[in-house]
Amino acid sequence: MSKALNELTITEAARALRAQEITVQQLWDACAKAAKEKNTELKAFLELFPADDTAIDAAQKRIDNKGDNTPALCGIPLAIKDNILIEGHIASSASKILSNYKATYDATVITKLKEAGTLFLGRTNMDEFAMGSSTEHSAFGAAKNPHDTSRVPGGSSGGSAAAVAAHMALCALGSDTGGSIRQPAAHCGLVGFKPTYGAVSRNGLEALASSLDQIGPLAKSVADAKALFDAIRGRDPLDATTIETAPSAVPVAFRIGVPHHLLTEGLDKDVRAHFDNALAAFAQQGHEIVDVSLPTSPHALAAYYVIQPAEASTNLARYDGMRYGVSVAGDSLLQDYVRSRTEGFGTETKRRILLGTYVLSSGYIDAYYRKAELARGMLRTEYDKAFESVDVIAFPTTPSPAFAFGEKTDPVSMYLEDIFTVTANLTGMPALSVPMGNVMREHASLPTGIHFTAPHGKDNVLFAVGAKLTGEQLY
Ligand code: GLN
Repeated sequence: MSKALNELTITEAARALRAQEITVQQLWDACAKAAKEKNTELKAFLELFPADDTAIDAAQKRIDNKGDNTPALCGIPLAIKDNILIEGHIASSASKILSNYKATYDATVITKLKEAGTLFLGRTNMDEFAMGSSTEHSAFGAAKNPHDTSRVPGGSSGGSAAAVAAHMALCALGSDTGGSIRQPAAHCGLVGFKPTYGAVSRNGLEALASSLDQIGPLAKSVADAKALFDAIRGRDPLDATTIETAPSAVPVAFRIGVPHHLLTEGLDKDVRAHFDNALAAFAQQGHEIVDVSLPTSPHALAAYYVIQPAEASTNLARYDGMRYGVSVAGDSLLQDYVRSRTEGFGTETKRRILLGTYVLSSGYIDAYYRKAELARGMLRTEYDKAFESVDVIAFPTTPSPAFAFGEKTDPVSMYLEDIFTVTANLTGMPALSVPMGNVMREHASLPTGIHFTAPHGKDNVLFAVGAKLTGEQLY
């Protein structure tokens, strides 16, 4: 085999394991070695776990005994974002306030992966509580982009993206509240998938904004993203918002909707050129490109940055120094709360808590929060209407490739990174980012991504359209 083992996709590794060309131990060792060597520079992982010999042996036995019937993820080493609970391991959401918090149970996605025989390499770096687009808000230092270490890997799941892009892990789990899987995937040259809201259980995900959060894969291929999604999806009695998303019919020829009116200022010319080339490639394959109008979209970012902080401010109220994590004593109970939160939270987290508390406060809730919820409803209606005439909607995942560290110190310029991604979270619809070619910035060749949204529950349509672009055969 010409590739190093840590460079394999899940599909390739699963085949090689079953053909007894490689062992689970060899695959683990290759990833663990690469992770150890590269992590000092890339800071993709906040912690690398020691080898779990029992799990490695068990996975090997399952493969030996069952061959082709073993779950696809059996024996596959994955990286897990630091806001997903793995029993007995720290899950800090890259925050000082949870730096000593050890999970007392497994998130449902982890339970499912353990049942499938998956191995966990470690917990990955992220923006504190998943708020950010660069991992620069991590309390433990930023992760770096393997394509150019002077640039961010994107965020908030930047550590997961860097880990997979640098072949430290075959695949990774991230979480996506406004783009945190798709944007880092685009910046690191990966496939990133945000499932339909409720398709994957949020039980055991440290909550950011509960009506927007979803766990999903960052992968080297569309097939891998699908394999990981299939392993973690499904209804869960521990999360009442979960739904079963049954596979729906996939069109042979896609009608791809493009909101040309949104592709204007702020979109880099060479990113636009790659997007146009991708559309041309689709047209050449016999798919139809249709112009669609989404008039409320220009307000999506503003609506997101009202709703998301509102929900974050209530979710983060539980970190008071009493029940979880770091506690800093003051002179009174109130002082205990104030000091724990003042010292435990970083600047961006505090900014969002303030913003969220403000938009929910009496006198402002109508002007901000309720208006944002109205805009959210309008977005949903407009997308539903557009989906009457198209199968998917496409635009670039981000307006520009990965930016340099320190380039977006003004919070609004960082928020603008999410201009294309937040709508899928607001509408609850599934969305996929697929690499669409590299652009040059100061001698670095940087990946860009194309973004597809499908109607609610039609997650499998996205894998099908993504595979058309990458030329993959989905099984
Ligand atoms: N970048 C967005 C934010 O800062 C999205 C975060 C996310 O998806 N978790 O809120």
